[in-house]
Amino acid sequence: MHDLIIIGAGPAGLTAALYAGRSRLDVLMLERMAVGGMILMSETIENFPGFPGGIPTQDLMQRMREQVENLGVKISTEEVSGIDCKNKLVKTGTGEYSARAIVIAVGAKPRRLNVPGEDKLTGRGVSYCATCDAPFFKGKKVIVVGGGNAVAEEALYLTRFAESVSIVHRRDELRASAILQERLRENNKINFILSSKVTEISGGSKVESLKVKDLKTNEEKKLDCSGVFIYIGYDPDTGFLKNELQLDEAGFIITSEMMATSEEGIFACGDCRKKSLYQVITACAEGAIAADSAYKHIFS
Ligand code: NAP
Repeated sequence: MHDLIIIGAGPAGLTAALYAGRSRLDVLMLERMAVGGMILMSETIENFPGFPGGIPTQDLMQRMREQVENLGVKISTEEVSGIDCKNKLVKTGTGEYSARAIVIAVGAKPRRLNVPGEDKLTGRGVSYCATCDAPFFKGKKVIVVGGGNAVAEEALYLTRFAESVSIVHRRDELRASAILQERLRENNKINFILSSKVTEISGGSKVESLKVKDLKTNEEKKLDCSGVFIYIGYDPDTGFLKNELQLDEAGFIITSEMMATSEEGIFACGDCRKKSLYQVITACAEGAIAADSAYKHIFS
């Protein structure tokens, strides 16, 4: 029996662990992959206060990890397969843990386009992580799909390697922040294919081309490329919570302002939560609130 189990070691979970550790709670963190979570797919964080010029994501996450480990927080690499909210039990592939309170900070996973060829060619030219895969596309033509901040940042990163980077977006304007759009327009390796959607990705053992349909003219054309990077948003990683907690129709966890979920003693923070702004800074703030709420629950 732990005081607190935190599921997920991204910025939200790590900040919850920081606050809980400083309250001298006995904390177990469970993370199925790398400490740092999905933000590790970005190379640099430019909008975290206090770092003019940005900070490499790996560095920030490593510092957060050190900070919680120095407080005695245990981090275990295990995938959570189920949770019994009423009894505060967490099941993983290797065991079952109980706690007096639980913080869920499981984040989200990249949304897929669901077009022919995407599944077959994932890892063979189709990627959801430019930071991981961009060096494989040195001197090659790549396409990035989407219109938000992620597409803008990753397209700019890809220009360091690729010969050209085409952004395919379904509307005639991006929703990325103004500063990122300025940088895209200033970069002569980047071009835009707007009001268009990807209908198919093709290739034998590797990506060779992609089909896009112009949504204004309905005309379809084939574009030769070696890589397709997809950034069309994220879906919460909450499948295992379906019958346990109140979720919205897309699967995001509904919480109060104090990060309380529909079950007493269970709190949620970060990208798995329904909210209006998905950023590292908001994830951290929510992690702090979730830990404080958990502490109050335990000692109430
Ligand atoms: P996002 O902001 O939700 O944008 C997703 C984009 O994909 C939108 O432009 C959307 O088009 C398009 N899209 C969605 N479904 C699609 C589909 N089925 N087919 C084609 N296009 C589709 O997602 P994101 O850029 O991945 O970012 C996720 C979150 O992380 C956001 O809250 C973002 O602000 C945050 N983030 C922040 C930063 C930063 O602050 N530096 C960096 C990266 C990410 P429409 O525009 O037509 O809806």
